[in-house]
Order: sequence, then C-alpha cells, then structure tokens
Amino acid sequence: MTTLPLIPDNLPLALAQVQQRIAQATAQAGRAPDAVRLLAVSKTFPAEAVAQAAAAGQRAFGENYVQEGVAKIETLREQGYTDLEWHCIGPLQSRKTAQVAAHFDWLHSLSRLDIAERLSRQRPPDLPPLQICLQVNMDGGANKSGIAPEQALELAQAVCKLPHLQLRGLMSIPEPYDDPQQTLAVHRATRTLFDDLGAQLALPQWNTLSMGMSHDLELAIAAGSTMVRVGSAIFGARG
Ligand SMILES: *Cc1c(COP(=O)(O)O)cnc(C)c1O
Repeated sequence: MTTLPLIPDNLPLALAQVQQRIAQATAQAGRAPDAVRLLAVSKTFPAEAVAQAAAAGQRAFGENYVQEGVAKIETLREQGYTDLEWHCIGPLQSRKTAQVAAHFDWLHSLSRLDIAERLSRQRPPDLPPLQICLQVNMDGGANKSGIAPEQALELAQAVCKLPHLQLRGLMSIPEPYDDPQQTLAVHRATRTLFDDLGAQLALPQWNTLSMGMSHDLELAIAAGSTMVRVGSAIFGARG
C-alpha cells in the first residue's frame, strides 16, 4: 500500500499558474483564447485535492486507474460536485470496461476495437455516448500503448459505427526527449495526422487533440493541441 501524496497548500495558486501558462502559449501561437482546454490529472491524489481544484473552478479531471477514479467520482458526487467531467486516460483492460462505461465521460486511451465494442455495449442507455480519443503511438516508443499512426484510420472508421461511443480525436504521449525540438516535432506530426484523419472521416465532432503535460504543454499548444493533461504542475510531485 503506497501512501497518498499530500495536497499542496497552494493548489489554487498552482492551478492559476497552469492556466496562465496555457493562456500565454495559446496567445503566442496566435490561437483563440478558448482553443485549449485544461484536463487536471488527479491520479494518485486524494478526493480532497480534486475538491479543492473543483472549488477553484476546474471542471475536467483525468484519472489513470479505473478503481481509484471511480472511488473519487463517487466521493465528489456525494460532496455535491455533480457537474464535473471525468476522463479515463490510462491503458484499459477488458475486465475494467464496464466500470469505465458506467462512470466516466471520456476515454483518451482507446487502441483496440474489441475494447471499443465492449464499451459501446456496456454504456448505460441513460447516459450520453462515451467520448473517445484514439491513443496513437507516434514515435514508436516501446513502453507505451497506442496504435501505430497507419492503423488510426481503420480503427477510427470502425469506432464511428458504434452507437454508444462518440469519436472526438486523438491522444498522444511523446517519449521523454532531452531536446524540446524533438518533442515539438512529434507533437507536430500528431497534429498533421489529426488533420488528415479529420479530412477523411468528416465527423462534425472530430475536434479534440489531447497532447501536452506539465513539462511540455507549451510545445503541444504551439503544435496545435486542443486539450492538455496536467498533473504534477497542479497537484505536486507524485512521489
Ligand atoms: C500522469 C499523466 C499525465 C500528467 O502528467 P504530469 O507530468 O504530471 O503533468 C498526463 N497524461 C497521462 C496519460 C498520464 O498518465
């Protein structure tokens, strides 16, 4: 059993600083002020930390581990936070799909059609479709999930046909390069793939490119990210 990290005592300030970084990078890239959304990645942090961020106005939260995420979703709902948006961003195994379908609003890490079919089948009919990004492994990193770029169109076309999923775009995580130019190049390649797929799929809701984290959000925004997933810069080090 690992102990949960402490909540930073300046969480609202850290959140405001991240919002400031996003605003600056967005302006510098000549993009519209609302072009990039912030997903606060609360994995490993307690529900109390999420509540503090929610009280400071943050609405969208990302979790990697299904059980941990579901526990926080329920705790926050009991505390009256009924308008939060929950994104599952970690690799997903078949035996966890029912929980994701029942509790989350988004999944960023889809890379298998059989998982997509299960999610669509298991999505409760009273909920809106589960919002989906395909995870793409742009630079071929051996230790991460995601489909190869050349498989993306085929998977996207199959996912589009599933009634209880709504395909929104792509998610990617570049390898941790020392050279920021390399990170930028991978982000740019991901944006190009996102645009190419958008043109081929012609889906009105294809509008989400989930890329950029605490250390590289400026590079991701420069390359055309529409959603950055930020954990440690808001909640502190994960220990
Ligand atoms: C943990 C995690 C993040 C957040 O990373 P930070 O470096 O803490 O900002 C973003 N995306 C994914 C998929 C993660 O697992």
